[in-house]
Amino acid sequence: MWKDIEIRSRRRVEIIDITDRVGAACRDLDAVDGLVVVVCKHTTAGVCINEGDTKLHQDLERWLDSLAPADRDYEHNAVDDNADAHLRAILLGHSACVPLSGGSLSLGTWQRILFVELDGPRTRELQVGLMPTAG
Ligand code: ZN
Repeated sequence: MWKDIEIRSRRRVEIIDITDRVGAACRDLDAVDGLVVVVCKHTTAGVCINEGDTKLHQDLERWLDSLAPADRDYEHNAVDDNADAHLRAILLGHSACVPLSGGSLSLGTWQRILFVELDGPRTRELQVGLMPTAG
């Protein structure tokens, strides 16, 4: 069973903490124990797990920009002028897994689930699912 999450970004590049929304989706699924999978259904956005610190998010944006600068001459830009966003999304990956224990996300002290918009502003769709653990 899956639960959809809709996210509306406001900037071209934006890091959005979705931890609480994933937790709410788990409650909607009546999930208690298992492995929660968060899947981003887009090629110019990503999902990762890291700190919620806004200064780190600025560093992440700068780091992604250094690896895939927006102003480079990419082949894909002839299609829809967003090759940098696709390449950055490849670096981040499109999914994250978190254990669910007793109905709560089992994250480390500083871990948050982050949605990373790379070609916004847009409305995005994520899916949250639970894989039950045996026993
Ligand atoms: Zn494209």
